[in-house]
Amino acid sequence: MTTISRNLQDIHQRIHNACAGAGREPSSVALLAVSKSWPVESLAEAVLCGQRVFGESYVQEGLAKIDALGDNSLEWHFIGPIQSNKTRPIAEHFAWVHSVDRFKIAERLSVQRPPHLPPLQICLQINVDGERNKAGCLPEEAASLCQAIAPLPHLTLRGLMAIPEQTTDVMRQRQQFARLRELRDTIDISLDTLSMGMSHDLEAAILEGATIVRIGTALFGSRT
Ligand SMILES: *Cc1c(COP(=O)(O)O)cnc(C)c1O
Repeated sequence: MTTISRNLQDIHQRIHNACAGAGREPSSVALLAVSKSWPVESLAEAVLCGQRVFGESYVQEGLAKIDALGDNSLEWHFIGPIQSNKTRPIAEHFAWVHSVDRFKIAERLSVQRPPHLPPLQICLQINVDGERNKAGCLPEEAASLCQAIAPLPHLTLRGLMAIPEQTTDVMRQRQQFARLRELRDTIDISLDTLSMGMSHDLEAAILEGATIVRIGTALFGSRT
């Protein structure tokens, strides 16, 4: 058994256990394999173990892997910072974008989404801590941004994403994730997705309602 296949099994077990603790179905939580910085061979190995959904943070790196793997049954999620001059390749090659944090980016993605493809699936990234210089819109901007983005024709607004401050304090982790869920619940649009939880805090995220966990290190190893 390879390291990736063993890690993948461990992560599925963690998701399973967390769902049991939360009284949720394991099928209600999707595993996004965050493959940034890992070579195509590592992704190919994960594909052999049944993983089909991958997250990338850098446009050029992501495009190279999409091209190299060339497997139409894989699903690609863009999760990194977005410069407005990089929206076109994202709109053309990814199925989801988790890191939309302003209207201009959403508008460009909608205009540039090829009409023969299904709508691009969108999460609005929220700066839940409100820390300065962090990516994401502020919680108080979320409702009006969702109202503006939802009608864009080639996008489907699915939910909210956050990368809270890293902490080993599980109560603190849960508080931050709960804030994202509560924010989602105040928005007057049906949003079925909470993209939250990473290698070190997926259990807390699942307890607070995560529907997509984004896992890099626990699957592929630490990035150097
Ligand atoms: C790198 C990254 C992850 C994965 O983090 P790990 O701690 O390695 O699991 C998740 N989400 C985003 C947005 C990332 O950039």
